[in-house]
Amino acid sequence: MNRSASIHKISSTPEFDCCIIGGGATGLGIALDAASRGLKTILLEQHDFAKGTSSRSTKLVHGGVRYLQQGNIRLVMDALKERGLLLRNAPHLVHNQAFIVPNYKWWEKPFYGIGLKIYDKMAGKLGLGPSLFLSKEETLERAPTLDPENLKGSVLYHDGQFDDARLAISIAQTADEQGAILLNYFPVTGLLKQQNKIIGVWARDEFSNQDYEIRSRCVINATGVFSDTIMRMDDPFHQPMISPSQGIHLVVDKEFLPGDSAIMIPRTDDGRVLFAVPWHDKIVLGTTDTAINHISSEPIPLATEIEFILSHIGRYLSRDPSLQDIRSMFAGLRPLIKGKNKKTAALSRDHAITVSDSGMITINGGKWTTYRKMAEETIDLAVQTFNLAAGDCITKTLLLNGHDQPAPVVNIDMLTETQLEELVSHAVQQEMCMTLEDFLSRRTRQLLLDARLAIKMAPSIARMMAVVMQKEEYWINEQINIFKTTASNYIPGSSNQN
Ligand SMILES: Cc1cc2nc3c(=O)[nH]c(=O)nc-3n(C[C@H](O)[C@H](O)[C@H](O)COP(=O)(O)OP(=O)(O)OC[C@H]3O[C@@H](n4cnc5c(N)ncnc54)[C@H](O)[C@@H]3O)c2cc1C
Repeated sequence: MNRSASIHKISSTPEFDCCIIGGGATGLGIALDAASRGLKTILLEQHDFAKGTSSRSTKLVHGGVRYLQQGNIRLVMDALKERGLLLRNAPHLVHNQAFIVPNYKWWEKPFYGIGLKIYDKMAGKLGLGPSLFLSKEETLERAPTLDPENLKGSVLYHDGQFDDARLAISIAQTADEQGAILLNYFPVTGLLKQQNKIIGVWARDEFSNQDYEIRSRCVINATGVFSDTIMRMDDPFHQPMISPSQGIHLVVDKEFLPGDSAIMIPRTDDGRVLFAVPWHDKIVLGTTDTAINHISSEPIPLATEIEFILSHIGRYLSRDPSLQDIRSMFAGLRPLIKGKNKKTAALSRDHAITVSDSGMITINGGKWTTYRKMAEETIDLAVQTFNLAAGDCITKTLLLNGHDQPAPVVNIDMLTETQLEELVSHAVQQEMCMTLEDFLSRRTRQLLLDARLAIKMAPSIARMMAVVMQKEEYWINEQINIFKTTASNYIPGSSNQN
């Protein structure tokens, strides 16, 4: 992917078939679906790809055991199928993960055991392995730090685990290969209309400050929690449809959960599930569900949320993690679709696709796991609504960029200087990495794995990037300052957390 070359291509395309606003899981999936069906496609992202919710997930490719409890069978079936497809198409970024559901009460084993057998059955041929009943001894062998007191045994089941921001880049690169133009740091600032119909967008290159008029037969709003803002550009009287809910994660050292198995706590005090998942040699603990009314690209974990996760996970581990043990923490916003029920945990995780009177398609909700299916449905609707000349959807079997290569390096603290320089140069030249934060947060995952270490490494990485990008000392200092401010919110104790 080359940003300057992509910008040049804008002027040589008088009209696109599809213009997608938003470069998270949803928008990127749509860009790939559209381009691979032969449509002239452009995607515009205001920050970096996956800067929003799509880099802040629990990192699970899952059917959603919780939705099964809620009786949402279709959502679970769809997600289980997509889980299987994603494992085939992106084996470098998605893997089969064993989960343990510890049982401390007599009824938990049969209750969760039966539920998980149904989950296995629903996955059919794309299943990742049968669930098993484990004795207390077998459970502790797999998860030696589980609190042994009153432990009766456990149920083991399988789901997928992945690297969200890296998958976003892989989808973007695949879409680029299929002929799509993808641009980061390119916010859509307005909609072009003719006789009350949308015929394109205004967008700005954040680095040159140049504005572009981009014409397109179809405009798709895939901006997640920001959807209402774009819908208001279309209709100033638009009533908000997104009910944002914040979920946070804490990252701690592997010693809190050695071994390869993750833990799933099926019921917290507020009726949610809680996960402890091995991820790049650390453990991710999460998540929460807090209704919020401020939408930001850098949401900040609240002290109450941190306390909630620490106290809950502490009930199940023999050594309780404390504030000092948190290597990093991150928050994401769920773009839940408003419902009558005010409690966000009860709102649907399913997606909704709408077409406005002026012809803008908006897609909201859903999960990372189902991004491909959401994209297929969106482009089907676009083809039908705008009579676009498109081929059949091919993404079920389309292998994603990097599928035949080893997993990318994302934990960079052990690399030599030469290896780091190579990685930086690759990220800048091949992956449209434009800022220090792009590199430390999403091309690698250092910020999410160990925020203090990421801050320590920031000056040397900024210098390496400056060499490749031919930037001056001023740029280096600016990048370091911006990064340090952002990264301080990934460490507990920042003044913004209350
Ligand atoms: C805490 C949490 C945990 C989760 N865990 C999981 C999980 O384990 N597994 C799973 O399957 N799903 C999970 N999800 C759900 C999943 O992460 C989301 O459904 C998905 O990432 C949403 O992607 P999106 O592209 O719709 O939104 P986003 O990723 O937010 O992307 C929208 C993009 O639009 C851009 N944008 C906004 N305005 C403009 C504009 N004017 N111009 C250009 N671009 C603009 C934003 O910058 C943003 O990058 C989780 C969600 C949360 C919050």
